[in-house]
Amino acid sequence: MLNQLPQAVFVERTHCINCGSPDVIELSSGHYTDQPLHGFLAADPWGEDPLPYLQSATWSLAKCATCSQVFHRRILNEEWNERRFTMWMNAQSIVEFEKRRGAAFPRAFAAATGHLEHILRIEEMTKGVRPNDQPVRLLDFGCGFGSFIETCVNFGFQAEGIDRSIGRRSEAKVHITPTLDKIDGRFHAVTLFEVLEHLDDPSGVLEALSTRIVPGGILVLETPDCTGVTNIETHRDYLLVHPLEHINCFTNQTLISIAKRTGFEHIARAPAFALANSMRATKRLAKYALRQDGRSTQLYFRKS
Ligand SMILES: [Zn+2]
Repeated sequence: MLNQLPQAVFVERTHCINCGSPDVIELSSGHYTDQPLHGFLAADPWGEDPLPYLQSATWSLAKCATCSQVFHRRILNEEWNERRFTMWMNAQSIVEFEKRRGAAFPRAFAAATGHLEHILRIEEMTKGVRPNDQPVRLLDFGCGFGSFIETCVNFGFQAEGIDRSIGRRSEAKVHITPTLDKIDGRFHAVTLFEVLEHLDDPSGVLEALSTRIVPGGILVLETPDCTGVTNIETHRDYLLVHPLEHINCFTNQTLISIAKRTGFEHIARAPAFALANSMRATKRLAKYALRQDGRSTQLYFRKS
């Protein structure tokens, strides 16, 4: 039966997704039917199971010899990527996947605290581009269910979101549009939380967003840190360089370089500590003073 099903179609990325160099070296490769990848995929929650469509598919993790960017060379073509967004990852499977990331209350509390700290920083760091106390105009690109936008709106921001996933848009409490061309004007700040690693053309998206940020405005990029990952051997590797999901694999250095190439300068983030525990507050402040604050792939940039 399986071999009668259509097989997913992939397109080959022949040039580096960061610097454009054709000098790309394969780090590892395999079939989707190989272990341990097949087992990891089979254990994930899906709407429609993708595995019957991946019987003949192969993946190839590669590194640019020029700029060290790591990425998957084979990505789903537009038609199959649409199927992934609408059928494989439907609203129910996304909710189930989020549930598996840990107990609901600590996760929700940590996420909302993180959102608050971003809001405090962005308000402070955009003061120079908002004369007369204008409200912050913010775009959250790849906003998921829109929870960050909801919090921004509660703080008086004019916040809007873009998300390609129909499952996520339909479950959101705020208005979310599918593409950038549905939104007018320019923003004081644009955020991409856990988004850049999913995009077919991350440079193209950053270039397009660059034209929609006011000069001196802020860009926030957050991705998984893939430092040292060269293969899919452990579940941790799978989560970091999942060949259907995380098709671009960033480190601190490659995240800074892709942003620089698309018109952004890396800057230190303003201190923001949402805490009610003096010991932890002291530790955070000490880390900030020693410039050890923040994850290496959660970075702030200013539009040059
Ligand atoms: Zn490169």
